[in-house]
Amino acid sequence: MRVRFAPSPTGHLHVGNARTALFNWLLARGNGGTFILRIEDSDADRSTRDSEAAILRDLRWLGLEWDEGPDVGGSCGPYRQSERLHLYESYAKELMAADRAYYCFCSTAQLETERQTAVAEGRPAVYAGTCRRLSKEQAQARIAGGERPAIRFRVPDDRDVVVQDVVRGDVRFQIDVIGDPIIVRAGGTPAYNFAVVIDDALMEVTHVVRGEDHISNTPRQILLYEALGFTPPIFAHLALVMGSDHSPLSKRHGATSIAEFRAKGYLPEALVNYLALIGWSPRGSAAGRSSGDDAAELLPVDELARRFSLERVGLSAGVFDEEKLAWVNRHYLKMADPLRIAELSVAHFKKAGVEMKPDRRGLELLASAMPMATASVDRLDQIPARLTSLFQYDAEKALADSHVRDEMSAEGPQRVVRALADALARAPRLDRERFRGVANDVKAHTGQKGKQLFHPIRIALTGLIEGPELDLVVPAIDRGADLPREAGLPPIVGCRERAAAFVAALKPLC
Ligand code: GLU
Repeated sequence: MRVRFAPSPTGHLHVGNARTALFNWLLARGNGGTFILRIEDSDADRSTRDSEAAILRDLRWLGLEWDEGPDVGGSCGPYRQSERLHLYESYAKELMAADRAYYCFCSTAQLETERQTAVAEGRPAVYAGTCRRLSKEQAQARIAGGERPAIRFRVPDDRDVVVQDVVRGDVRFQIDVIGDPIIVRAGGTPAYNFAVVIDDALMEVTHVVRGEDHISNTPRQILLYEALGFTPPIFAHLALVMGSDHSPLSKRHGATSIAEFRAKGYLPEALVNYLALIGWSPRGSAAGRSSGDDAAELLPVDELARRFSLERVGLSAGVFDEEKLAWVNRHYLKMADPLRIAELSVAHFKKAGVEMKPDRRGLELLASAMPMATASVDRLDQIPARLTSLFQYDAEKALADSHVRDEMSAEGPQRVVRALADALARAPRLDRERFRGVANDVKAHTGQKGKQLFHPIRIALTGLIEGPELDLVVPAIDRGADLPREAGLPPIVGCRERAAAFVAALKPLC
Protein backbone atom coordinates (compact mmCIF):
# COMPACT_ATOMS: atom_id res chain seq x y z
CA MET A 1 0.00 0.00 0.00
CA ARG A 2 1.29 3.43 -0.97
CA VAL A 3 -0.68 6.52 0.05
CA ARG A 4 0.06 10.19 -0.15
CA PHE A 5 -0.83 13.57 1.27
CA ALA A 6 -0.52 16.27 -1.37
CA PRO A 7 -0.96 19.74 0.09
CA SER A 8 -0.74 22.92 -1.95
CA PRO A 9 1.61 25.27 -0.06
CA THR A 10 -0.68 28.27 -0.24
CA GLY A 11 -1.47 28.77 3.45
CA HIS A 12 -1.54 27.03 6.79
CA LEU A 13 -2.30 23.40 7.45
CA HIS A 14 -6.00 23.38 8.24
CA VAL A 15 -7.95 20.95 10.35
CA GLY A 16 -9.63 19.40 7.30
CA ASN A 17 -6.33 18.83 5.50
CA ALA A 18 -4.68 17.59 8.66
CA ARG A 19 -7.46 15.03 8.99
CA THR A 20 -6.85 13.92 5.39
CA ALA A 21 -3.14 13.60 6.16
CA LEU A 22 -3.93 11.64 9.33
CA PHE A 23 -6.27 9.18 7.60
CA ASN A 24 -3.60 8.47 4.99
CA TRP A 25 -0.95 8.13 7.67
CA LEU A 26 -3.10 5.77 9.78
CA LEU A 27 -3.78 3.66 6.72
CA ALA A 28 -0.09 3.39 5.90
CA ARG A 29 0.97 2.69 9.49
CA GLY A 30 -1.78 0.17 10.06
CA ASN A 31 -1.02 -1.78 6.90
CA GLY A 32 2.76 -1.68 6.70
CA GLY A 33 2.40 0.80 3.84
CA THR A 34 4.31 3.87 2.73
CA PHE A 35 3.18 7.43 3.46
CA ILE A 36 4.31 9.93 0.84
CA LEU A 37 4.31 13.70 1.18
CA ARG A 38 4.06 15.54 -2.12
CA ILE A 39 4.05 19.31 -2.40
CA GLU A 40 1.67 20.52 -5.10
CA ASP A 41 3.32 23.82 -5.87
CA SER A 42 2.93 23.98 -9.62
CA ASP A 43 0.94 27.18 -9.21
CA ALA A 44 3.94 29.42 -8.60
CA ASP A 45 1.85 32.53 -8.00
CA ARG A 46 0.09 31.13 -4.98
CA SER A 47 2.69 28.73 -3.55
CA THR A 48 5.35 29.80 -1.09
CA ARG A 49 8.28 28.08 0.57
CA ASP A 50 7.21 29.58 3.89
CA SER A 51 3.87 27.86 3.64
CA GLU A 52 5.57 24.58 2.69
CA ALA A 53 7.88 24.86 5.72
CA ALA A 54 4.91 25.59 8.00
CA ILE A 55 2.97 22.60 6.68
CA LEU A 56 5.96 20.29 7.21
CA ARG A 57 6.44 21.68 10.72
CA ASP A 58 2.78 21.17 11.62
CA LEU A 59 2.69 17.63 10.24
CA ARG A 60 5.81 16.76 12.22
CA TRP A 61 4.35 18.36 15.33
CA LEU A 62 1.32 16.10 14.93
CA GLY A 63 3.72 13.17 14.61
CA LEU A 64 2.69 12.36 11.04
CA GLU A 65 6.16 11.57 9.73
CA TRP A 66 6.44 10.65 6.06
CA ASP A 67 8.52 7.92 4.47
CA GLU A 68 9.09 9.77 1.21
CA GLY A 69 8.93 13.49 0.65
CA PRO A 70 10.68 16.67 -0.41
CA ASP A 71 13.12 16.76 2.48
CA VAL A 72 13.64 13.04 3.11
CA GLY A 73 13.77 11.92 -0.54
CA GLY A 74 12.69 8.52 -1.79
CA SER A 75 12.77 6.40 -4.90
CA CYS A 76 9.97 8.26 -6.73
CA GLY A 77 11.20 11.83 -6.33
CA PRO A 78 11.40 14.67 -6.73
CA TYR A 79 8.44 15.30 -4.42
CA ARG A 80 7.72 18.91 -5.35
CA GLN A 81 5.65 19.43 -8.46
CA SER A 82 7.73 22.49 -9.38
CA GLU A 83 10.68 20.09 -9.80
CA ARG A 84 8.75 17.66 -11.99
CA LEU A 85 7.75 20.00 -14.81
CA HIS A 86 9.77 18.02 -17.36
CA LEU A 87 7.64 14.97 -16.61
CA TYR A 88 4.36 16.76 -17.19
CA GLU A 89 5.74 18.26 -20.37
CA SER A 90 6.70 14.92 -21.81
CA TYR A 91 3.32 13.36 -21.03
CA ALA A 92 1.55 16.38 -22.53
CA LYS A 93 3.58 15.87 -25.72
CA GLU A 94 2.60 12.23 -25.73
CA LEU A 95 -1.11 13.09 -25.51
CA MET A 96 -0.74 15.75 -28.22
CA ALA A 97 1.02 13.30 -30.51
CA ALA A 98 -1.77 10.77 -30.01
CA ASP A 99 -4.38 13.48 -30.64
CA ARG A 100 -5.76 12.92 -27.13
CA ALA A 101 -5.08 16.60 -26.41
CA TYR A 102 -5.31 19.83 -28.37
CA TYR A 103 -4.31 23.48 -28.22
CA CYS A 104 -6.91 25.86 -26.87
CA PHE A 105 -6.72 29.58 -27.62
CA CYS A 106 -9.89 30.67 -25.84
CA SER A 107 -9.33 33.69 -23.64
CA THR A 108 -10.32 33.77 -19.99
CA ALA A 109 -12.91 36.45 -20.79
CA GLN A 110 -14.44 34.35 -23.57
CA LEU A 111 -14.59 31.28 -21.33
CA GLU A 112 -16.21 33.28 -18.57
CA THR A 113 -18.91 34.58 -20.93
CA GLU A 114 -19.60 31.05 -22.10
CA ARG A 115 -19.80 29.88 -18.54
CA GLN A 116 -22.29 32.57 -17.57
CA THR A 117 -24.45 31.86 -20.61
CA ALA A 118 -24.49 28.16 -19.78
CA VAL A 119 -25.46 28.86 -16.17
CA ALA A 120 -28.19 31.29 -17.30
CA GLU A 121 -29.58 28.67 -19.68
CA GLY A 122 -29.44 25.98 -17.03
CA ARG A 123 -26.82 23.94 -18.92
CA PRO A 124 -23.77 22.40 -17.25
CA ALA A 125 -20.92 24.91 -17.32
CA VAL A 126 -18.51 22.81 -19.35
CA TYR A 127 -16.10 23.88 -22.05
CA ALA A 128 -17.99 24.42 -25.30
CA GLY A 129 -15.30 22.73 -27.36
CA THR A 130 -14.49 25.76 -29.51
CA CYS A 131 -10.86 24.79 -30.16
CA ARG A 132 -11.55 21.07 -30.31
CA ARG A 133 -12.27 21.38 -33.99
CA LEU A 134 -9.20 23.41 -34.94
CA SER A 135 -6.92 21.55 -37.32
CA LYS A 136 -3.25 21.09 -36.43
CA GLU A 137 -2.35 23.57 -39.18
CA GLN A 138 -4.77 26.21 -37.87
CA ALA A 139 -3.34 25.83 -34.40
CA GLN A 140 0.27 26.04 -35.60
CA ALA A 141 -0.56 29.17 -37.58
CA ARG A 142 -1.99 30.88 -34.50
CA ILE A 143 1.06 29.92 -32.44
CA ALA A 144 3.30 31.27 -35.20
CA GLY A 145 1.22 34.45 -34.98
CA GLY A 146 2.29 34.85 -31.34
CA GLU A 147 -0.69 33.35 -29.47
CA ARG A 148 0.04 31.25 -26.40
CA PRO A 149 -2.37 28.35 -26.15
CA ALA A 150 -3.32 26.15 -23.24
CA ILE A 151 -3.56 22.40 -23.80
CA ARG A 152 -6.83 20.58 -23.24
CA PHE A 153 -7.47 16.90 -22.84
CA ARG A 154 -9.92 15.48 -25.36
CA VAL A 155 -12.49 13.71 -23.22
CA PRO A 156 -13.97 10.72 -25.05
CA ASP A 157 -17.67 11.38 -25.59
CA ASP A 158 -18.97 7.85 -25.87
CA ARG A 159 -19.62 6.81 -22.27
CA ASP A 160 -20.22 7.92 -18.72
CA VAL A 161 -17.52 7.55 -16.08
CA VAL A 162 -18.10 5.67 -12.86
CA VAL A 163 -15.91 6.48 -9.89
CA GLN A 164 -15.71 3.46 -7.60
CA ASP A 165 -15.25 5.04 -4.24
CA VAL A 166 -14.55 3.06 -1.09
CA VAL A 167 -16.52 5.50 1.04
CA ARG A 168 -19.29 6.53 -1.34
CA GLY A 169 -19.77 3.45 -3.50
CA ASP A 170 -20.16 3.90 -7.26
CA VAL A 171 -20.59 7.52 -8.32
CA ARG A 172 -21.64 7.96 -11.95
CA PHE A 173 -20.70 11.07 -13.94
CA GLN A 174 -22.43 11.70 -17.27
CA ILE A 175 -19.87 12.43 -19.91
CA ASP A 176 -21.59 15.65 -20.99
CA VAL A 177 -20.92 17.27 -17.62
CA ILE A 178 -17.23 16.50 -17.72
CA GLY A 179 -15.96 18.86 -20.44
CA ASP A 180 -12.43 18.88 -21.84
CA PRO A 181 -10.17 19.92 -18.94
CA ILE A 182 -7.11 22.11 -19.36
CA ILE A 183 -4.07 20.00 -18.63
CA VAL A 184 -1.36 22.59 -19.32
CA ARG A 185 -2.06 26.28 -18.74
CA ALA A 186 -1.13 28.91 -21.33
CA GLY A 187 1.91 29.78 -19.20
CA GLY A 188 3.16 26.20 -19.50
CA THR A 189 2.40 25.01 -15.96
CA PRO A 190 0.47 21.80 -15.53
CA ALA A 191 -3.10 21.92 -14.23
CA TYR A 192 -3.93 20.05 -11.04
CA ASN A 193 -5.91 17.27 -12.72
CA PHE A 194 -3.00 16.45 -15.01
CA ALA A 195 -0.10 16.70 -12.58
CA VAL A 196 -1.92 14.71 -9.92
CA VAL A 197 -2.50 11.78 -12.26
CA ILE A 198 1.08 11.65 -13.48
CA ASP A 199 2.42 11.98 -9.95
CA ASP A 200 0.13 9.41 -8.40
CA ALA A 201 0.90 6.98 -11.22
CA LEU A 202 4.68 7.48 -11.18
CA MET A 203 4.78 7.44 -7.40
CA GLU A 204 2.87 4.14 -7.56
CA VAL A 205 0.17 5.39 -5.24
CA THR A 206 -2.31 2.59 -4.57
CA HIS A 207 -4.96 4.49 -2.58
CA VAL A 208 -5.97 8.11 -3.08
CA VAL A 209 -7.68 9.32 0.09
CA ARG A 210 -8.69 12.98 -0.05
CA GLY A 211 -11.48 15.46 0.58
CA GLU A 212 -14.85 15.12 -1.05
CA ASP A 213 -14.33 18.48 -2.75
CA HIS A 214 -12.18 16.58 -5.26
CA ILE A 215 -14.72 13.99 -6.29
CA SER A 216 -15.85 15.98 -9.32
CA ASN A 217 -12.23 16.00 -10.53
CA THR A 218 -11.96 12.25 -10.27
CA PRO A 219 -13.77 11.29 -13.53
CA ARG A 220 -11.38 13.53 -15.48
CA GLN A 221 -8.47 11.95 -13.67
CA ILE A 222 -9.75 8.44 -14.42
CA LEU A 223 -9.96 9.30 -18.11
CA LEU A 224 -6.42 10.68 -18.01
CA TYR A 225 -5.14 7.51 -16.32
CA GLU A 226 -6.64 5.53 -19.16
CA ALA A 227 -5.33 7.82 -21.89
CA LEU A 228 -1.82 7.66 -20.43
CA GLY A 229 -1.93 3.89 -20.04
CA PHE A 230 -1.84 3.94 -16.23
CA THR A 231 -3.96 1.89 -13.85
CA PRO A 232 -6.12 4.12 -11.62
CA PRO A 233 -5.67 3.77 -7.85
CA ILE A 234 -8.41 2.99 -5.36
CA PHE A 235 -10.26 6.19 -4.46
CA ALA A 236 -11.77 7.26 -1.15
CA HIS A 237 -13.31 10.70 -0.75
CA LEU A 238 -13.84 11.93 2.78
CA ALA A 239 -16.81 14.04 3.77
CA LEU A 240 -15.66 17.55 4.58
CA VAL A 241 -15.14 18.73 8.12
CA MET A 242 -17.98 21.05 9.11
CA GLY A 243 -18.42 23.75 11.71
CA SER A 244 -21.06 23.53 14.42
CA ASP A 245 -23.66 25.01 12.04
CA HIS A 246 -22.97 22.29 9.45
CA SER A 247 -21.36 24.62 6.95
CA PRO A 248 -17.78 23.84 5.90
CA LEU A 249 -15.36 24.71 8.70
CA SER A 250 -13.95 28.17 8.14
CA LYS A 251 -12.44 31.14 9.98
CA ARG A 252 -15.96 32.14 10.93
CA HIS A 253 -16.06 29.18 13.30
CA GLY A 254 -12.91 30.28 15.13
CA ALA A 255 -9.53 28.56 15.02
CA THR A 256 -9.08 26.33 11.98
CA SER A 257 -5.36 25.86 11.52
CA ILE A 258 -3.19 23.37 13.34
CA ALA A 259 -0.82 26.21 14.28
CA GLU A 260 -3.67 28.04 16.02
CA PHE A 261 -4.62 24.96 18.02
CA ARG A 262 -0.99 24.45 19.03
CA ALA A 263 -0.81 28.08 20.19
CA LYS A 264 -4.01 27.64 22.17
CA GLY A 265 -2.42 24.88 24.16
CA TYR A 266 -3.69 21.63 22.70
CA LEU A 267 -1.39 18.63 22.71
CA PRO A 268 -0.58 16.96 19.38
CA GLU A 269 -1.70 13.53 20.61
CA ALA A 270 -5.07 15.02 21.58
CA LEU A 271 -5.57 16.61 18.17
CA VAL A 272 -4.58 13.39 16.44
CA ASN A 273 -7.00 11.35 18.54
CA TYR A 274 -9.78 13.87 18.04
CA LEU A 275 -9.22 14.33 14.29
CA ALA A 276 -9.36 10.57 13.84
CA LEU A 277 -12.89 10.64 15.27
CA ILE A 278 -14.19 13.14 12.71
CA GLY A 279 -15.93 10.97 10.19
CA TRP A 280 -14.50 7.71 11.50
CA SER A 281 -15.37 5.72 14.54
CA PRO A 282 -13.46 2.93 16.24
CA ARG A 283 -16.84 1.37 16.92
CA GLY A 284 -18.12 1.45 13.39
CA SER A 285 -21.68 2.49 14.00
CA ALA A 286 -21.11 6.06 15.12
CA ALA A 287 -19.02 7.14 12.15
CA GLY A 288 -19.63 10.70 11.15
CA ARG A 289 -21.26 11.94 14.24
CA SER A 290 -19.67 13.34 17.27
CA SER A 291 -20.69 11.05 20.07
CA GLY A 292 -20.61 11.94 23.74
CA ASP A 293 -17.79 11.79 26.19
CA ASP A 294 -16.92 8.21 25.59
CA ALA A 295 -13.70 6.84 26.96
CA ALA A 296 -13.75 4.13 24.28
CA GLU A 297 -12.79 6.83 21.82
CA LEU A 298 -9.65 7.80 23.69
CA LEU A 299 -7.10 5.78 21.79
CA PRO A 300 -3.36 6.26 21.46
CA VAL A 301 -2.12 6.67 17.93
CA ASP A 302 -0.76 3.12 17.60
CA GLU A 303 -4.16 1.78 18.49
CA LEU A 304 -5.85 4.15 16.05
CA ALA A 305 -3.53 2.88 13.31
CA ARG A 306 -4.25 -0.71 14.22
CA ARG A 307 -8.00 -0.19 14.07
CA PHE A 308 -8.33 2.30 11.24
CA SER A 309 -10.02 1.19 8.04
CA LEU A 310 -11.60 3.07 5.16
CA GLU A 311 -14.65 0.82 5.40
CA ARG A 312 -15.50 2.47 8.69
CA VAL A 313 -15.27 5.98 7.37
CA GLY A 314 -18.73 7.52 7.44
CA LEU A 315 -20.59 9.06 4.55
CA SER A 316 -21.87 12.04 6.44
CA ALA A 317 -19.86 15.13 7.22
CA GLY A 318 -18.02 15.22 10.51
CA VAL A 319 -18.62 18.20 12.74
CA PHE A 320 -15.66 19.83 14.39
CA ASP A 321 -16.55 20.32 18.01
CA GLU A 322 -13.95 22.20 20.03
CA GLU A 323 -15.60 21.23 23.28
CA LYS A 324 -15.01 17.61 22.51
CA LEU A 325 -11.44 18.36 21.48
CA ALA A 326 -10.99 20.07 24.86
CA TRP A 327 -12.34 16.97 26.58
CA VAL A 328 -9.86 14.78 24.72
CA ASN A 329 -7.06 17.23 25.49
CA ARG A 330 -7.89 17.16 29.20
CA HIS A 331 -7.40 13.42 29.17
CA TYR A 332 -3.99 13.65 27.48
CA LEU A 333 -2.85 16.48 29.76
CA LYS A 334 -3.50 14.26 32.77
CA MET A 335 -1.73 11.31 31.18
CA ALA A 336 1.33 13.22 30.00
CA ASP A 337 4.70 13.29 31.74
CA PRO A 338 4.51 16.36 34.05
CA LEU A 339 8.04 17.36 33.05
CA ARG A 340 6.96 17.58 29.41
CA ILE A 341 3.90 19.62 30.36
CA ALA A 342 6.11 21.87 32.48
CA GLU A 343 8.33 22.52 29.46
CA LEU A 344 5.35 23.18 27.22
CA SER A 345 3.78 25.51 29.75
CA VAL A 346 6.77 27.89 29.83
CA ALA A 347 5.60 29.72 26.69
CA HIS A 348 2.14 30.09 28.22
CA PHE A 349 3.55 31.48 31.48
CA LYS A 350 5.42 34.07 29.44
CA LYS A 351 2.25 34.95 27.56
CA ALA A 352 0.50 35.34 30.90
CA GLY A 353 3.20 37.80 31.97
CA VAL A 354 5.20 35.43 34.20
CA GLU A 355 8.73 35.65 32.79
CA MET A 356 10.82 32.54 33.29
CA LYS A 357 13.69 30.62 31.77
CA PRO A 358 13.75 27.46 33.84
CA ASP A 359 16.66 25.07 33.82
CA ARG A 360 16.25 21.42 34.78
CA ARG A 361 15.67 22.28 38.47
CA GLY A 362 13.13 24.95 37.57
CA LEU A 363 11.29 22.56 35.29
CA GLU A 364 11.28 19.85 37.94
CA LEU A 365 9.71 22.26 40.39
CA LEU A 366 7.05 23.22 37.87
CA ALA A 367 6.50 19.55 37.10
CA SER A 368 6.00 18.77 40.78
CA ALA A 369 3.29 21.43 40.90
CA MET A 370 1.75 20.38 37.58
CA PRO A 371 -0.79 17.80 38.86
CA MET A 372 -2.65 20.58 40.67
CA ALA A 373 -3.09 22.37 37.35
CA THR A 374 -3.69 19.44 35.02
CA ALA A 375 -6.39 18.09 37.29
CA SER A 376 -8.67 20.88 36.15
CA VAL A 377 -7.59 22.47 32.88
CA ASP A 378 -8.53 21.82 29.26
CA ARG A 379 -5.49 23.44 27.69
CA LEU A 380 -1.91 24.45 28.38
CA ASP A 381 -2.76 28.14 28.26
CA GLN A 382 -4.97 27.72 31.34
CA ILE A 383 -2.10 26.37 33.45
CA PRO A 384 -0.50 29.67 34.57
CA ALA A 385 -3.72 30.86 36.21
CA ARG A 386 -3.84 27.62 38.23
CA LEU A 387 -0.33 28.10 39.51
CA THR A 388 -0.45 31.80 40.41
CA SER A 389 -0.28 30.93 44.11
CA LEU A 390 3.25 29.70 43.50
CA PHE A 391 4.66 32.90 42.07
CA GLN A 392 2.45 35.59 43.52
CA TYR A 393 2.07 36.18 47.20
CA ASP A 394 1.07 39.46 48.83
CA ALA A 395 -0.44 39.27 52.32
CA GLU A 396 -1.62 42.90 52.31
CA LYS A 397 -3.34 42.45 49.01
CA ALA A 398 -4.96 39.23 50.17
CA LEU A 399 -6.34 41.00 53.24
CA ALA A 400 -7.66 43.83 51.11
CA ASP A 401 -10.21 41.35 49.78
CA SER A 402 -13.44 41.73 51.74
CA HIS A 403 -14.12 37.97 51.90
CA VAL A 404 -10.68 37.33 53.30
CA ARG A 405 -11.03 40.21 55.77
CA ASP A 406 -14.44 38.98 56.97
CA GLU A 407 -13.11 35.53 57.43
CA MET A 408 -10.01 36.70 59.27
CA SER A 409 -11.80 39.07 61.60
CA ALA A 410 -12.96 36.19 63.81
CA GLU A 411 -10.78 35.00 66.62
CA GLY A 412 -10.54 31.33 65.65
CA PRO A 413 -8.88 31.87 62.26
CA GLN A 414 -6.53 34.46 63.75
CA ARG A 415 -5.38 31.98 66.36
CA VAL A 416 -4.81 29.41 63.61
CA VAL A 417 -2.60 31.65 61.49
CA ARG A 418 -0.59 32.84 64.48
CA ALA A 419 -0.01 29.28 65.60
CA LEU A 420 0.90 28.42 62.01
CA ALA A 421 3.46 31.23 61.84
CA ASP A 422 4.94 30.09 65.18
CA ALA A 423 5.15 26.48 64.10
CA LEU A 424 6.71 27.40 60.76
CA ALA A 425 9.26 29.68 62.38
CA ARG A 426 10.70 26.59 64.01
CA ALA A 427 10.12 24.11 61.17
CA PRO A 428 12.35 23.31 58.22
CA ARG A 429 10.94 23.76 54.70
CA LEU A 430 7.78 21.70 54.26
CA ASP A 431 7.20 18.57 52.31
CA ARG A 432 3.86 16.82 52.45
CA GLU A 433 4.67 14.90 55.64
CA ARG A 434 6.07 17.88 57.49
CA PHE A 435 3.08 19.97 56.43
CA ARG A 436 0.78 17.40 57.98
CA GLY A 437 2.86 17.51 61.16
CA VAL A 438 2.63 21.30 61.30
CA ALA A 439 -1.12 21.21 60.67
CA ASN A 440 -1.46 18.75 63.57
CA ASP A 441 0.57 21.01 65.83
CA VAL A 442 -1.66 23.94 64.96
CA LYS A 443 -4.73 21.80 65.57
CA ALA A 444 -3.45 20.70 68.98
CA HIS A 445 -2.56 24.24 69.87
CA THR A 446 -5.79 25.92 68.82
CA GLY A 447 -8.39 23.18 69.08
CA GLN A 448 -9.57 24.05 65.54
CA LYS A 449 -10.09 21.26 63.03
CA GLY A 450 -11.42 20.50 59.56
CA LYS A 451 -12.45 23.54 57.59
CA GLN A 452 -11.87 25.84 60.60
CA LEU A 453 -8.28 24.71 60.57
CA PHE A 454 -7.46 24.41 56.90
CA HIS A 455 -9.27 27.39 55.49
CA PRO A 456 -7.25 29.98 57.43
CA ILE A 457 -4.09 28.01 56.63
CA ARG A 458 -4.99 28.15 52.95
CA ILE A 459 -5.59 31.87 53.08
CA ALA A 460 -2.39 32.58 54.95
CA LEU A 461 -0.20 30.43 52.68
CA THR A 462 -1.74 31.17 49.28
CA GLY A 463 -3.58 34.46 49.80
CA LEU A 464 -6.62 32.84 48.20
CA ILE A 465 -9.88 31.53 49.58
CA GLU A 466 -9.90 28.63 47.20
CA GLY A 467 -7.37 26.85 45.08
CA PRO A 468 -5.52 23.62 44.60
CA GLU A 469 -5.05 21.04 47.30
CA LEU A 470 -2.78 22.24 50.08
CA ASP A 471 -1.00 18.89 50.11
CA LEU A 472 0.19 19.72 46.60
CA VAL A 473 0.72 23.44 46.73
CA VAL A 474 2.53 23.68 50.08
CA PRO A 475 5.40 21.31 49.22
CA ALA A 476 5.74 22.99 45.81
CA ILE A 477 5.98 26.44 47.41
CA ASP A 478 8.66 25.33 49.85
CA ARG A 479 10.68 23.46 47.24
CA GLY A 480 10.52 26.61 45.15
CA ALA A 481 11.61 28.82 48.04
CA ASP A 482 14.98 27.11 48.19
CA LEU A 483 15.63 27.18 44.46
CA PRO A 484 18.64 29.26 43.44
CA ARG A 485 18.05 32.16 41.05
CA GLU A 486 19.84 30.25 38.31
CA ALA A 487 16.99 27.75 38.24
CA GLY A 488 15.28 30.41 36.15
CA LEU A 489 11.95 30.77 37.91
CA PRO A 490 10.54 33.98 39.37
CA PRO A 491 11.27 34.17 43.13
CA ILE A 492 8.98 31.98 45.22
CA VAL A 493 8.20 33.15 48.76
CA GLY A 494 8.35 30.21 51.20
CA CYS A 495 5.56 29.17 53.57
CA ARG A 496 7.42 30.40 56.66
CA GLU A 497 7.82 33.88 55.17
CA ARG A 498 4.24 33.87 53.95
CA ALA A 499 2.82 33.01 57.36
CA ALA A 500 4.96 35.66 59.06
CA ALA A 501 3.97 38.31 56.52
CA PHE A 502 0.32 37.37 56.89
CA VAL A 503 0.41 37.68 60.69
CA ALA A 504 2.13 41.06 60.36
CA ALA A 505 -0.48 42.26 57.88
CA LEU A 506 -3.20 40.95 60.15
CA LYS A 507 -2.18 43.08 63.13
CA PRO A 508 -4.25 46.15 62.26
CA LEU A 509 -7.33 43.89 62.13
CA CYS A 510 -6.92 42.48 65.64
N1 GLU B 1 -3.25 19.75 -3.80
C1 GLU B 1 -4.59 19.25 -3.67
C2 GLU B 1 -5.24 19.91 -2.47
O1 GLU B 1 -4.55 20.42 -1.61
C3 GLU B 1 -4.50 17.75 -3.50
C4 GLU B 1 -5.73 17.03 -3.89
C5 GLU B 1 -5.48 15.54 -3.96
O2 GLU B 1 -5.20 14.96 -2.91
O3 GLU B 1 -5.54 14.99 -5.04
O4 GLU B 1 -6.43 19.96 -2.38
